[in-house]
Amino acid sequence: MDLKYIDDPAVNFEGKKVLARFDFNVPLNEKLEITDTTRIDNSIPTIKYLLENGADKLILMSHFGRPKGERVDKYSLEPVARYLAEKLDSEVILTESATDSGINTLLNLSTPKIILLENLRFHPEEEANDPGFAKTLSKYGDILVEDAFGTSHRKHASTYGIIEYFRNNAFGGLLLKNELKALDKIVKNPKKPFVAIIGGAKVNDKIKIITRLITTVDFMLIGGAMAYPFLKAKGHSIGTSLCSDEDVLLAEKILNSPSGKAKIILPVDHMVASSINGKAEYIDSPVIAGDKMGLDIGEKTIELFARTLKQAMTILWNGPMGLFEKDAFAKGTLSIAKIVADSDAFSLVGGGDSVAAIKKSGMSDKISHISTGGGASLKYIEGGSLPGINALKFGV
Ligand code: AMP
Repeated sequence: MDLKYIDDPAVNFEGKKVLARFDFNVPLNEKLEITDTTRIDNSIPTIKYLLENGADKLILMSHFGRPKGERVDKYSLEPVARYLAEKLDSEVILTESATDSGINTLLNLSTPKIILLENLRFHPEEEANDPGFAKTLSKYGDILVEDAFGTSHRKHASTYGIIEYFRNNAFGGLLLKNELKALDKIVKNPKKPFVAIIGGAKVNDKIKIITRLITTVDFMLIGGAMAYPFLKAKGHSIGTSLCSDEDVLLAEKILNSPSGKAKIILPVDHMVASSINGKAEYIDSPVIAGDKMGLDIGEKTIELFARTLKQAMTILWNGPMGLFEKDAFAKGTLSIAKIVADSDAFSLVGGGDSVAAIKKSGMSDKISHISTGGGASLKYIEGGSLPGINALKFGV
C-alpha cells in the first residue's frame, strides 16, 4: 500500500486529537539556547496544516539528545516549547513527562490546543520499542502523524511500534513528504550525469552507501579522511593520516570492482600538517611523506572535482573534504560547498557536518534539498526504504 500524507483530501482532521511525532532534536549551546532551528522550522508547515484543517488538539512528541532512559534536565524540551510558542504565536504546554497523569486532564480541556510531551527518551521504553509504552502514547490521539524523518530509520516506540495502534489512521507529515520526494530523485532514475561526493571520517559507516551508489553514479569524488584508505589501497604512502587497516581492505575491494575502477576520483594533492594542531603545508602530490597527516584536499583536487561537478545533473554530497572545523583546513569543504551551490544540478546535501559546512558558507538556499536527517537519508539511499516509513505504509 502507498504511504498516505496529511494533505490527502480523504483525510479529515475536523475535531480530532492528533498525535504527531517530530524530530525536534536541535543543537543547544552551554546556555541551553537553540543554535540551529532548522528542524523545528521545517516541522512548522505540518503543525499549521493540522491546525488550519480543524484539529481539536495537537499532541506533539519528540526525543531530545541522548539522556539514556532517565530524566536529565539539560535534555528537557523546554527551549523547544518556548520556540514553538513564539513561532506559532500560540500557547504550547510542556508536560511533566510523556506519561504524566495530568495529560488526560489537558486533553479534556478546550485550551491549550497544543501540548508538547516531555522528551520521549527520558523513558527507556522509547528506544526499546516497548509495546506498553507505545500503547500508552497511542491513547492520546485519534490520528497519528509521523513527521520525524531524522529518526525514521530507528525502530523506536514512537516512530515504529505505535503505528500498529493506528490502522487506517496513521499518516506522513509534510516534512517527511518533502524528504522522500527529494531522496527519490537520487534513488529512482537520477538525472545523469550523477556525481556523488563522499567525505568525512567514518569509512566503515559509509561503506554500504559507497557500495550501493557506485553502480548508479557516473562519478564518485572521495575526499576528507575517507580518501586515505583508498589512496593507501592504491599503493600510495599516506603518512600519519587517519586510516585503519580494516578500512584499507574495504577500499581495496571497491577499487577493484569494475565500477570502482571507472568511477572513483581521488585527491591528487593535499593540505597536511604534523598534527591536527600543526602548521598547514601544501603537498603537490597524492603521496604524503612519513610524518605528515592529510587534513584537507589541495587546490588541484578542488579543480579536478569542480570539472566533474560542472557536468553533473544530479549531485549528492555527504561528508566534509577535510578537518573543516579548523580554518586552515576548511578551504576544500567550503570550495566544494560553493561549487555545489552554484551548480544547476539537483543537489542533495545530507549529514550533519556537510550541512554545517553549507551553512557556514552561507549558501544553504542555493542547494535543492538539505536533509534534516543525515543517518536516515543515507539509510534510505542504501536500502530504498526505512522501518518507520514502511510501517506507515501498512498502517494506512
Ligand atoms: P563524518 O561524520 O564521517 O562525516 O566525519 C566528519 C568529521 O570528519 C569532521 O569532524 C571532519 O573534521 C573530519 N575529517 C574530515 N576530513 C578529515 C581528515 N582529513 N582528517 C581528520 N579528520 C577529518
